[in-house]
Amino acid sequence: MNAPSTVNNNELLGHPKGLFILFVTEMWERFSFYGMKALLIFYLTQYHLFNDQSGNLLIGSYAALVYAMPVLGGFLADRYLGFRKAVLFGGILLVLGHLGLAFEGREASIAANGDVVRDDFALQVFYFSLALIIMGVGFLKANISSLVGELYPPGDKRRDSGFTIFYMGINIGSAAATIVCVWLGEAYGWGYGFGAAGVGMFFGLISFVKGRPYLLGKGEPRNPEQLRKKTRYGLSQEWLIYTLTILGSAVVWQMVQSHSTVEKLLMVAGAASLIYITYYAVTQLDKVGRERLIALTVLIVFTVIFWALFEQAYTSLNLFADRVLDREIFGITIKAGQFLSLNAIFIILFAPVFAMLWVKLGRFNPNTAVKFSFGIILVGLGFGALVLGINLATMGKVAMIWLVLAYLLHTWGELCLSPVGLSAVTKLSPPKIVGFMMGVWFLATASSEFIASVLANIAAIDTEGGEIKDIEMAKGVYLELFEYLFYAGMFFGVLLLAISPLLKKFMHGVDRELNN
Ligand code: GLN
Repeated sequence: MNAPSTVNNNELLGHPKGLFILFVTEMWERFSFYGMKALLIFYLTQYHLFNDQSGNLLIGSYAALVYAMPVLGGFLADRYLGFRKAVLFGGILLVLGHLGLAFEGREASIAANGDVVRDDFALQVFYFSLALIIMGVGFLKANISSLVGELYPPGDKRRDSGFTIFYMGINIGSAAATIVCVWLGEAYGWGYGFGAAGVGMFFGLISFVKGRPYLLGKGEPRNPEQLRKKTRYGLSQEWLIYTLTILGSAVVWQMVQSHSTVEKLLMVAGAASLIYITYYAVTQLDKVGRERLIALTVLIVFTVIFWALFEQAYTSLNLFADRVLDREIFGITIKAGQFLSLNAIFIILFAPVFAMLWVKLGRFNPNTAVKFSFGIILVGLGFGALVLGINLATMGKVAMIWLVLAYLLHTWGELCLSPVGLSAVTKLSPPKIVGFMMGVWFLATASSEFIASVLANIAAIDTEGGEIKDIEMAKGVYLELFEYLFYAGMFFGVLLLAISPLLKKFMHGVDRELNN
């Protein structure tokens, strides 16, 4: 491939133009990701007639794998591919995977003897498409975030706001997706909703390819000659990685169908990552580098709690909205899945407010650990709002304002933790393993997704063909889960607050720059 031509006048709105290329690419990637994810639980429970439990568990396995794979993608990018090639390859896999989902097959039916008859071939196509998406996200998600970090030299004060802009791109994609794909899926058929997600990813890929000159050669492989060198298998190192990934999709295809295997994989990946981090900290770093890496790792562990609560959105909260929420306003019934777009809409509205708030607070600006603890407390409070809402609805459905309030609090929590966290990874991590550490950041989300699906099953309800029988009983079940999540958020949030002074010390001033 030819070297990219460079462009003059490299800034837009005070940021490198490359940021906006990554913004658009990630916007479309998240459009496809969230569009499909919002449809998933309904597609499984209403079209293929999965019961709640198996639907939640499949989503848990998929979501866990999708966020676990970036560790591998990040590691391969650090050592071999570089971030740009990894993102490109991931994008191609994603287009293929999303288009595969557009094939919906025959709808499940209930036989005379009460058994559910499913289109098994269509389901296998579906699982294989999920595997391609899992691999695609594995190569794209962490590496595109690391590439954002590469656009800013160390100490560049614009880094945090760069990540906030990038995070808005994520959420513009997700807001549009949950409205457009859910509408297409429910009004015209699942294939249209999933297909739209695939078309979105295709736009993302085109933007990334076309925008390459604006990346100014960032994110290229560390050692391009070695990458081109033939290995003993006859392929270059680069093509060997691509080939192994395709072969690996077949393994993931099987894994996504086995929740217990995913559980084991998560444990192995988590333990292996911690061992590698410890090895790296002990053998490769001085005291300051080591303590920063420890602080980062502790922060990442706490994100598991945050996302486990937050990710109820796609299972228990989605079903709660469908079943017991009064969704009617001005004579229009809002579709349950469309409530998911509130999170993204609130991010778009409040991200600039939070970015300004941190700056305005000046020396009172809380450090990253304190912000993380606020995040966890806020997500807990969101469930507190739902507990209140259910208790106030003595008879019949719950008013929708409570879910809106819950998503508002969840979003405020997310803004205290997620963009701040991505930026923190690119600063606290040793430069040579930044891709890997970004992968570990998402691996934490992977564990949360798994835990989230198990938690969601506390509120699994037996249905008849996807419909609940007794609203009052359903409310009681959701109340129990939400109370539990409220207390969990309070407990872990306060715990992190208590140890935040120690973490601040371990960050050795990086945090001061982070908050500028
Ligand atoms: N919503 C964000 C995204 O899609 C954060 C996901 C995460 O880190 N768990 O990028």
